[in-house]
Amino acid sequence: MSRFADIALPAALHQALDQLGYETATPVQAQTVPPMLQGHDVLVQAKTGSGKTAAFGLALLATLQSDNTQLQGLILCPTRELAEQVSKELRALARFVPNIKILSLCGGVSVRVQLASLSHEPHIVVGTPGRIQDLIKRGALPLDGLSTVILDEADRMLDMGFIEPIKSILEGTPSRRKTWLFSATYTDDIRAISSAFQRTPTDIAIAEPP
Ligand code: ADP
Ligand code: MG
Repeated sequence: MSRFADIALPAALHQALDQLGYETATPVQAQTVPPMLQGHDVLVQAKTGSGKTAAFGLALLATLQSDNTQLQGLILCPTRELAEQVSKELRALARFVPNIKILSLCGGVSVRVQLASLSHEPHIVVGTPGRIQDLIKRGALPLDGLSTVILDEADRMLDMGFIEPIKSILEGTPSRRKTWLFSATYTDDIRAISSAFQRTPTDIAIAEPP
């Protein structure tokens, strides 16, 4: 059992965890948050419902600089519904972090409205690969300050045919970025993405309880 109190996170995040009633870190959180905080890339396999969102959300919020207005974190999700769930959980975790802006950008919503919302200079963008690639092509998402890219439900994104936008997005991001890859399954395609875009990732597979 790992208590969040034993994981070195900023006070504002501990305060949010207290308010959410998260006392014990799930296995995926206990095993992935420390290497992510140390700046490592991670390749994580853990089943649905294991708490992956808070794992990468806490590590991302702990490592970004809210006084820097650049876009620093990009999270890619397979669907709009999942991107909205991730944004919601991140906002709950970021409740006591002053001035953090988290924006959700998915297909099915007017590009014009999204272009206007980008004038608020988000620190974190959560979105679906097709729309994010489109906004990057329009020059609307400045990537120079991007320090972390997270692929959430990577296996599902590949099943849905998002390989090309994912590659194109990653190719356009700074090479010094951290890449955190989360998936429910390990497939050859996941390994291929990892070896093409990650730097000696810490490989973490969470076993299913017997
Ligand atoms: P996954 O992405 O692995 O499928 P989620 O991140 O969606 O899982 O988390 C599943 C549920 O568990 C969510 O409702 C979330 O709020 C809750 N949860 C996550 N971490 C904790 C924790 N440490 N303690 C209690 N509940 C948690
Ligand atoms: Mg998830």
